[in-house]
Amino acid sequence: MISNSFSFKKYFLFFFVLLFSLSGAQKKFTIVLDAGHGGSDHGANRYYSEYGTLREKDITLAVVLKLGRMLEKDKDFKIIYTRKIDEYPSLTDRTTLANRSKADLFISVHVNANTKTSPYGTETFVQGPDQNKTNLEVAKAENDVIYLDEKDRQMFASYDPKSPESLIALKIQQSKYLESSLLFGSFVEGNFEKKDKRYSRGVKQQNLHVLRLNAMPSVLIETGFISNYDDAMYLGSEKGQNEIADSIYDAIMSYKKAIGRNDGATAKPEAAKPEEKPLKNDFRILLMSSPSKYNNNDPALKGLNYILTLKENGMYKYYYGTTNMASVRDNNLKSAKDAGFRNATSISFIPNQKLGIGYYTIEIAVSEQKLSANSYMLNTLKDVVRTKENGKFYYTYGRFSSLEEAVKVQKTLEDKGIKNTVIQKNLK
Ligand SMILES: [Zn+2]
Repeated sequence: MISNSFSFKKYFLFFFVLLFSLSGAQKKFTIVLDAGHGGSDHGANRYYSEYGTLREKDITLAVVLKLGRMLEKDKDFKIIYTRKIDEYPSLTDRTTLANRSKADLFISVHVNANTKTSPYGTETFVQGPDQNKTNLEVAKAENDVIYLDEKDRQMFASYDPKSPESLIALKIQQSKYLESSLLFGSFVEGNFEKKDKRYSRGVKQQNLHVLRLNAMPSVLIETGFISNYDDAMYLGSEKGQNEIADSIYDAIMSYKKAIGRNDGATAKPEAAKPEEKPLKNDFRILLMSSPSKYNNNDPALKGLNYILTLKENGMYKYYYGTTNMASVRDNNLKSAKDAGFRNATSISFIPNQKLGIGYYTIEIAVSEQKLSANSYMLNTLKDVVRTKENGKFYYTYGRFSSLEEAVKVQKTLEDKGIKNTVIQKNLK
């Protein structure tokens, strides 16, 4: 038994080395195509008499299959699908598949929605500024460096995951992923706008789960709003789906050329775009300050998503987007102004800054009456603090020294179904 298994191992190893060297000689450009949602997770959906119920999961799959068919004609590409049928792989399954396959690019296709019918257009997300650390952990755990170009390969040839040099290398690599993702995202949005004459809301940074765990350049493309009539007609049509697939295909070609991965040649990357380095600070766009609390999708937020609400001295401040890239910040400011926030302004935040005095907490409810002890919130969370002010009851949860910590816990609350909470800054 032992010797058998030994020789089997040797054989297997030999075979593996052979396979590896063969594939290494002409490594294909590997792309993971991720059709958002699927199976029992329908994503966003709306009823239109023209189509019946239009579902996000069907649109994303149709676009991905069309795109995949185009790419598969080219022998330089290896295409991996997270799903090819109507099923639901978990977000972790999707990123694990991408990491295991050492992909060069991860593309997740989605469809946007809003409670209002007016917002329309496309937007592409790349990993958020707080994400670098998680991505770094993933890259370390995967125990391998994915080289973006020949220069990297030479520089990090003697890679040992335990050495400090390798950690620096990995950090450089992470910021390269962000840069590459931004570059690819700008090609996608550029094509939507110029070729397809659609309204592009731009490339944005956001901490999204499906991007967070990827050790490769990754984007999430919102191909349009299912809640907007014109967008929905386009998304449901053969013509619209073909155009979207076409534009992403062209973006892949431009991207591959730009990073010098053309037909296996190690050409110098085209200096089409100056490299953009992340800034030291994070930037959020302050939309407005108000004594009133608005929930997600409230018309007062004019169709903007991913709003961070910060309460300070009884005033609610509404911030849009988080980024450490100057181009994305300018783009976010433009989106805010386009949406109708004429006085919107960009505010700089020091990442992970600890408050010297005071603390952050999460306001989970404001109520005229005392919440019942049997309420879902009070049953789910321990140590909720209740205070009474001007005849109202305020319920808060947790004490955090940095905004990022509070945001993290706020996300876990959302997962538990406790939504529309507000992070509160207490300066005493
Ligand atoms: Zn989606």
